[in-house]
Amino acid sequence: MKFHNANTRLFVPDQAPDPLGRITHLGIGAHQDDLEFMAFHGILACFRSVEKWFGGVTCTDGAGSSRTGDYADFTDEQMQQVRIQEQEAAAVVGNYGAMVQLGYPSSTVKSPSDPSLKDDLLQILSATRPDIVYTHNPADKHDTHIGVFAATIQALREMPQADRPKAVYGCEVWRGLDWMQDNEKVVHNVAAHENLAAALNGVFDSQIAGGKRYDLATLGRRRANATYFESHAVDDCESVAFAMDLTPLVTDPSLDIVDYVLGFIHRFEADVRNKLTKRLE
Ligand SMILES: [Zn+2]
Repeated sequence: MKFHNANTRLFVPDQAPDPLGRITHLGIGAHQDDLEFMAFHGILACFRSVEKWFGGVTCTDGAGSSRTGDYADFTDEQMQQVRIQEQEAAAVVGNYGAMVQLGYPSSTVKSPSDPSLKDDLLQILSATRPDIVYTHNPADKHDTHIGVFAATIQALREMPQADRPKAVYGCEVWRGLDWMQDNEKVVHNVAAHENLAAALNGVFDSQIAGGKRYDLATLGRRRANATYFESHAVDDCESVAFAMDLTPLVTDPSLDIVDYVLGFIHRFEADVRNKLTKRLE
């Protein structure tokens, strides 16, 4: 396999000879830490499983990461190394089948005309042929996350129909999906092994040390999702991650991506409008 960037890293915690062929659940995230925050459902499904393996793909190189506290004096190069090591530590803790770090600058991920990320992802998808893919949701507010979402869908659409995954999920990081209609939410129960979630989130010390408690915020969002999901139901799960179902975009490449995503927003708008107008009229 020949990747676009010479600095691409393939890390295999158990050093298995064919690490990509066994992957069943593939997470594709922009930055080091995104997978642990958004694809914990897949990590959990594969944890200590014999036949299921989680594979992680981190697209960017960690350059330009914020740095404070103990990391304030780190150069860009040093910071990139720290973030790579943190991601590989998470792969060990989470018992991943493989961890690929593609090393792209954000500018390439955000570029509408540069196909190299899409081409790399297509290679990984062809080698893994996962059942389930987790990536960023298309209503996220981070442009680099949107870039990864777009490249992922474009790569999936180029796979032979028979090799495409059964399910593709857009997940929560820089925007939750609580605004979606309850009947349209994909509800991922992530209550098991909360200690593992805490360990995985906590590995990313370089981003948390400055005071941004992503680890607590991520667990808090999952708790809030579970509690506020159905107002009349007793919680039967204490931790939920929401996802947008992106599978139709992959099974039917003729679907317009923007129209598909805006459809969720239009139904949200209609729900707010209906509830308000029926009381105010
Ligand atoms: Zn990110």
